[in-house]
Amino acid sequence: MSHKSFLDDNLLLAPTTLAHLDNEFSTSLTDCREHLGMSQIGHDDDRYLWLQFRWAFLPGHDARVHRLFSLGNAIEREIIEWLRRYCDVITHDESGEQFRFAAVSGHFGGSIDGVIRNLIESDQWHVLECKSASRKKFAELIKTQSVERWNYQYYVQAQCYMAMTGLKRCYFVVYCKDDSSLYAERIKYRSSVWQQALERAQRIIAAAVPPASSWPNEMYYRSRWLSDQQRAVYWRKQMPVRSCRTCVYACPLVDNTNRPVGQWRCQLHCHALDANEQRRSCGDYQCIPDLVPETKGETQ
Ligand code: SF4
Repeated sequence: MSHKSFLDDNLLLAPTTLAHLDNEFSTSLTDCREHLGMSQIGHDDDRYLWLQFRWAFLPGHDARVHRLFSLGNAIEREIIEWLRRYCDVITHDESGEQFRFAAVSGHFGGSIDGVIRNLIESDQWHVLECKSASRKKFAELIKTQSVERWNYQYYVQAQCYMAMTGLKRCYFVVYCKDDSSLYAERIKYRSSVWQQALERAQRIIAAAVPPASSWPNEMYYRSRWLSDQQRAVYWRKQMPVRSCRTCVYACPLVDNTNRPVGQWRCQLHCHALDANEQRRSCGDYQCIPDLVPETKGETQ
């Protein structure tokens, strides 16, 4: 094969292969997390969180965003290996599982990257949380020198993890994806932030109908970050994804029991619904009226 034809073949092949891989990528109800995430509860909008908890739309990831998440996970592992050169880091329990925590009868949950001790700054155990950021976002963090001011959602996530583990500090490490610089901050536990997050989670989980939007309109920048399907469901221009979670008869079971996974119940058939049953729904499905697309003249 000549040099030219080799290049020509690969120029033709490469975009086709990549396009095929991207087109093959899809998300489904199995990609929806069962609980309301502690990593999400600092999000600015109740309606978004409720719709996500109710599986009204699918995760908005396309193949590119999925690769970004995978890269983030690889960076997290890299940071942990780097920290292990000096510190004690534990990322899994005795049975090899990630440390997971749940509250609100199992409907509000999260998992930590690990715990760490023997930092130069302190020999106490800390929650360990690792993130990565673009050069632009990383520069903003360096300027503020505060995770709380830089990304409040991350800050609330760290507070939830400290509340769940009983640890009073979180060692929060951020990696710059453009030049491999690192930033670290020892975030202090604030019980008031945890209490607010918990009360918000309880409210969202208990809500039978979607909360009103805190965003001014569909063109608001936060709204534009949603996928087309998410935006259409969010603004009642498209029916939600069909599952028990968008059916009027389903409700999350909340009592004083500490469960690792939240339970759901069908009030029509009077039985518990496991995750597979929720995904399947049944012939008596009736969509929550507040999720049905608005007709002309109706206001949200
Ligand atoms: S089992 Fe049927 S009626 Fe019950 S919540 Fe699911 S879809 Fe609705």
